[in-house]
This record gives sequence, structure tokens and C-alpha cells, in this order.
Amino acid sequence: MKYDMLLLRFGEFTLKGKNRNRFEKTIITHVKSVLASYPSAEIQKEYGRLYIALNGENAPELIAELKKIFGIVSISPVVVCASQLDKIIETGASFIEQMELLTETTFKVTAKRAWKAFPHPSQEMNHLVGSPLLKKFPLLKVSMRNPELQLRVEIREQGTYIYCEVIPAVGGFPRGSNGKAMLLLSGGIDSPVAGFSSMRRGLEVDCVHFYSYPFTSRKAKEKVLELAKVLSGYAGSVKVHLVPFTEIQTSFTGLGQDNLIITLMRRSMLRIATMLAEREGALAIVTGDSLGQVASQTLPSMNVIGKATELPLLRPLVMMDKSEIIEISKQIGTYELSILPYEDCCTLFVPKSPTTNPNLRVVERIEASISALPAMLEDAVARTETVLLTPDSVIEADREDGIDDNWF
Ligand code: ATP
Ligand code: MG
Repeated sequence: MKYDMLLLRFGEFTLKGKNRNRFEKTIITHVKSVLASYPSAEIQKEYGRLYIALNGENAPELIAELKKIFGIVSISPVVVCASQLDKIIETGASFIEQMELLTETTFKVTAKRAWKAFPHPSQEMNHLVGSPLLKKFPLLKVSMRNPELQLRVEIREQGTYIYCEVIPAVGGFPRGSNGKAMLLLSGGIDSPVAGFSSMRRGLEVDCVHFYSYPFTSRKAKEKVLELAKVLSGYAGSVKVHLVPFTEIQTSFTGLGQDNLIITLMRRSMLRIATMLAEREGALAIVTGDSLGQVASQTLPSMNVIGKATELPLLRPLVMMDKSEIIEISKQIGTYELSILPYEDCCTLFVPKSPTTNPNLRVVERIEASISALPAMLEDAVARTETVLLTPDSVIEADREDGIDDNWF
């Protein structure tokens, strides 16, 4: 089928009165950035929707790109024909022909006469187009209620738009339209998915990664940068703050409180992320926590860990099963990277029996006993490197850290 246009429908944000204009503008900017690689395509804006005139550009390829634009809920490829009854029936028939129906399929025509000078009103058009099609394709059976195949016919003065496919798109809120948050990005499966979910909700996301040379390898850091690069594909670009965490992490060992190490590490991560959030103008922290998944993600642990920051802690995956998270990570293109083996700073320090029920007072007492801790947190922020990634960035091995390659 040779399509002439794509119809893009906006999502739930259209309900939001005065923000609507701003949201639509954001989407249009995003669409334009995609269309830069398709120079013949042209945008036509209409109330509540967008049309892209293809002018010969490849529809399936463009749909695959446009489906990823936040704020767009669905896309329909459209054929335009002259607003004449015989042309409309002919085009409708070619739509159904290309479906190569093999089994009985329920069907209806939904016509809309936007051009009032057209001689047949909408209801009449449903019959005028439907009857010849039912005759021509014996497998079609009329169903008004819930047809499997709905041929939509929009009659306008300049031409009639015909389409039947409604391809689901990513939905959510337009890119960066709901403020900014810091994402704690590890090399695991969960946090990249949490990042994607946040972006889909319209958050601008800065990534924060804690690494512990020489306990974690340079490869582990590269892996996180590769993951952030995948995320940048959804945002256009993404900042990654790389925080040296070795000193802080080691200050928690040898205290005779090994079962609390993870709790202590997580609290320090949140404190650092909070300082970075203030510097970057972010108003929340996002993590990949999922309730009950590991010891640090029980309700008592989340309580004690969460008290280390006053910022809202957003946990998009909190109620999801691992299998659902894995499914999303495959869809968004982070899974294959996440399962690469390189150690995360936490995995290496995981004690035999991390507590699932830490005591806040005990934890606070330990922290108070490490008098250098506040200074170490400040110092980690001061030594944080920030890189800006785009989907085209080349991630290179970091040669500046003074660590010998053979070390690992
Ligand atoms: P993930 O798959 O995201 O690593 P996980 O199930 O392995 O999650 P944890 O290792 O307990 O869970 O980490 C919980 C959350 O803490 C992560 O989702 C992430 O948001 C944050 N986190 C853990 N380690 C790091 C790190 N090295 N740098 C930044 N954030 C981290
Ligand atoms: Mg992890």
C-alpha cells in the first residue's frame, strides 16, 4: 500500500487545559528532530493531532521512529483520495485487499463528513461505502459494536483521508515537559527501565552513577555509559554524573556492622544525589527499586534509606514483577547491555546477610561515628565528572584514571 500521510494522535496531556500548547510545541519540536533525516516529509498541525505528509518518504521506517516520541499514543498510515464516492470506495477496497483476509472478519465503515458541501452525510456514507465492500469481500461481516476492522473515512474539501490501522505508540508526556530528576543508574536491569519510565512521564533525567575503582572495573563504567547512551536516544541527550565512591564505601567496612553496609551505602548515594540535584536544578530522585526484590528494597529498608533525602524518591518499578521489568528492558534496548557481567560497586560489597530490617537509630549512630563522612560526601561531589551523551557518542575507555589495564 502506498500511503500519503501519517496521522499522529496525542496522548492524555490533551486533557490538561493551559499546558496543552506547551506540550504540543514540545512534541512538534521532537517530531521535527526526527524528520530532519526525512527531508521530503512535512508536518501539518491540526487541533489535537498532527499529520505528516510523506511525499515519498518510507512509511514503515518513519513510523518506527515516530512511535518512540513521548506524548504520541498512536499512528495511522493514511491514503488520501479525491472526495468522490467512486474514488473513496475504490481506495477502501484496496485497503482491504492488501490485508489478504483468510478468516471471517468483523467490519464497519466509520465516515465523517467534515466538508459539508459533500453530497452524502456521514451515516449515508457508511452504507454507500460499506455495501460494495461487503459484496466484494465475502469474508467481511458487519459488526457495529466491536469490529476487528474499522475503515475510517474522513471527507474534507481538499481530499478524503482513509485509514484502518491504528498502531500503538509509546504515549506518556512530551519530552522533558514535567521537570527534572536525578536517576541513580547502576549497570543492572532495573535502573535503566526506571529511567525510561521517568522520561516517558515527561521527566528530564540526569544520570548519577557511583563507581569504586579499583573494586569495579573500567568496563563497568563503560557499560553504564553505554546504557545512558541508549537512554539518550529517548531524550535527545543525557547528562551522566560519575561519582567516585571508593572512599565512602570502604569507610563502611571494618565497622563490625557488615549487615548494614548496603543501607549505609544507599543513604550516602542519596545524599550525594541530593547535592547534585540541587546543583542541577532537579526536584526528585529516581531509583530502580522494586518492592521486596532484594534486602535493601523491603519496606523497612526503604524507610531507613529514604530518610537520607528530603527530595521525593520516585520508584517507577516499585510494584512491578521482575519479568515485567525484563520485558520492558528488552523493548527499550537496554537488556543485552544490562546482562553483561561487569561488577557493580554494590555487588562486590554485598555481605552474607544484608539486613532486611535496619534500625534507623543504629544507622544514624554509625554515620555519626564516621566523623569524616560529611567531608567525604562533599569531596565526592567535587570530584564528580559529568559527561553529556547523545545517541552518536562514542564511549571510549577512560585512560585518565591512572589505573593499569592489567589490574583487572
Ligand atoms: P539495578 O538492576 O538497577 O542495578 P538492582 O535490583 O540490582 O537494580 P540494587 O543493586 O539493590 O538493585 O540497587 C537498587 C537501586 O539503587 C538501583 O536500581 C539504582 O537506582 C541504585 N543503584 C545501585 N547501585 C548503584 C550505582 N552503583 N550507581 C548508581 N545507582 C545505583
Ligand atoms: Mg544493581
